[in-house]
Amino acid sequence: MTSSAERLCGDCTLCCKVVAIEELGKPVNSWCGHCRPGRGCAIYVDRPAECESFSCLWLVNDLLGDQWKPDRSKLVLTTSEDGIEIRCDPGFPDAWRKEPFGSEIRAWAVSGESNDLTVLVIIGKRMILITPDQEFDVGLVGPDEQIVRELEGTKVVGAKVVKSCNVEC
Ligand code: SF4
Ligand code: SF4
Repeated sequence: MTSSAERLCGDCTLCCKVVAIEELGKPVNSWCGHCRPGRGCAIYVDRPAECESFSCLWLVNDLLGDQWKPDRSKLVLTTSEDGIEIRCDPGFPDAWRKEPFGSEIRAWAVSGESNDLTVLVIIGKRMILITPDQEFDVGLVGPDEQIVRELEGTKVVGAKVVKSCNVEC
């Protein structure tokens, strides 16, 4: 969707498929009608602000090697309020398990545990919380829902989906 000083999207357009764009009413995991997959955005100059401001982690963090480029890895990485989110191209739902990705994702979960950072794999609306020694597949998570972790110290021992209101109210 954009470019950094050091890296360019090039022929990658994967975020235009896996990310929802509110302004366009575009849901997750369907190509934006303005996207020319592998070529770019047909309305680049006039694209929504959401698109203009979006950068995946590969684009801005050169600690992620070229193997992580989304059109190669089939994974779009972003940060969240409390950690990292890994969105799979739905055509490749197990891409995150392949190496070297699976091992790196597990390593992030290990370092995240002591820093209270979550590592979340997202395949469409299905979410899987990754911890150092477990995967909590919590199933489909709606826009008005969130994942609540059960902790023993810093260790995650459970995870469930609740309505967001149940946490805030
Ligand atoms: S997923 Fe990343 S590299 Fe690919 S088009 Fe989007 S911002 Fe660019
Ligand atoms: S408007 Fe352009 S940049 Fe935004 S999702 Fe559609 S194709 Fe991608």
